[in-house]
Amino acid sequence: MDLNDTPEQAQFREKVRSWLEEHKGEAPVLEGPDALTEEDEIVAARRVWQRKLAEGGLAGATWPKELGGQGLGPIEQVIISQEIAAAGVPGILDVIGVGMLGPTLIAHGSEEQKQQFLGPMLHGDEVWCQLFSEPAAGSDLAGIQSRAKQVDGGWVLNGQKVWTTNAQFSAYGLLLARTDPEQHKHKGLTMFIVPMDAEGVTVRGLRQITGDAEFNEVFFDDVKIPDDAVVGGVNNGWGTALTTLMFERLTIGFGSEGLGYRPERFAGRIAEDPEASRNGEVRQRLGHIATDLMAVRFTGYRMLSALQQGQIPGPEAGLSKITTVNAGIQATELVADIVGPDALREDVENPFAYHTSFLPGLKSAGGTEEILRNTIGERVLGLPPEPRLDKGIPFSELRAKEKAAAS
Ligand SMILES: Cc1cc2nc3c(=O)[nH]c(=O)nc-3n(C[C@H](O)[C@H](O)[C@H](O)COP(=O)(O)OP(=O)(O)OC[C@H]3O[C@@H](n4cnc5c(N)ncnc54)[C@H](O)[C@@H]3O)c2cc1C
Repeated sequence: MDLNDTPEQAQFREKVRSWLEEHKGEAPVLEGPDALTEEDEIVAARRVWQRKLAEGGLAGATWPKELGGQGLGPIEQVIISQEIAAAGVPGILDVIGVGMLGPTLIAHGSEEQKQQFLGPMLHGDEVWCQLFSEPAAGSDLAGIQSRAKQVDGGWVLNGQKVWTTNAQFSAYGLLLARTDPEQHKHKGLTMFIVPMDAEGVTVRGLRQITGDAEFNEVFFDDVKIPDDAVVGGVNNGWGTALTTLMFERLTIGFGSEGLGYRPERFAGRIAEDPEASRNGEVRQRLGHIATDLMAVRFTGYRMLSALQQGQIPGPEAGLSKITTVNAGIQATELVADIVGPDALREDVENPFAYHTSFLPGLKSAGGTEEILRNTIGERVLGLPPEPRLDKGIPFSELRAKEKAAAS
């Protein structure tokens, strides 16, 4: 493929760049001496910024026009991300909503759901969270045990979710629950829209090693949800969830822009140290990192090419995710080897402290490295599949269910 902008893309890039030039003074400051520090201030400022980006056509660019988007292709979305990164301003706050859950509603939601929820989501008025993972269902997502039972006029939900990013300020969550335990574990699942302020929903923050509490555990005790909260049909939840997971892999798989950090900044930090930048071993390690990131960039272009031609990229998105995360971790390790314990000192001059402690967690987010390697082994290299002991067995007969019943 030709890696240069076409005349139309160059014109689009210029339009995005000049919008950002005009408005970047209104963006929230998240780094440096003037950075906002309180979570509620940051969230409020980022919501206002998301609204501006949406009004400028820089959020949800690939959403259909009739649903508030721009009806553009994936290449234009990448151009927007590149220009936002180059302008040094934050992107949208609700990456999970606009990038993953909105597209799921667009693909599987009813007309009423699309009309009610997508506009406020795009403009940052209502933030969304992804209520999939549970204490015993992460990699094995189809093993979820949260139960929704049908009652007159709706459903009653009980169970627990975990690692739910942004739940502490979300208005809604997209939740996967078991609705028929007599079916095989991938089949008796249903996707629901759950208002996070519904009676019986409890959100508890989980403190991370970074010191922040960006994700949560969420408990559901007899939460009543109406019939029209079902997305994509009763017991069709696995198919609906696969759409979300595909968009998640794409969001993360495109590399550092999707992950919200820019590894080249680590190289800048190393170059500031004259002794380190002349050291042969340091230069070699930096070279390895740079080569990996370059390979990710070109794999990303291949994925874009596939998307542009209407194809769905294959498991190579997983390979990009593994490589990007590992390159980021190696870069933080290199900085730590050079500056010593100061690499972890939180101060306004050192945004790397956060990345040093945050990046290892990304090995798990959006599919763990081991699971992605399994997928690549099976689907790209044609290796034999993992042994599956649960195939064709009703969920109610699996051990996880027995354990839950015993506890
Ligand atoms: C920063 C972050 C944000 C997140 N945000 C959300 C969110 O908003 N919503 C949400 O629903 N979830 C979220 N998650 C959860 C994430 O999806 C899970 O962490 C992930 O799916 C892995 O599940 P687990 O943590 O339960 O690990 P487990 O599945 O218990 O795995 C533990 C270890 O065992 C390995 N393992 C498991 N099965 C196999 C196998 N078959 N072969 C080889 N190795 C295996 C794994 O690779 C891993 O190393 C987030 C996680 C992180 C780190």
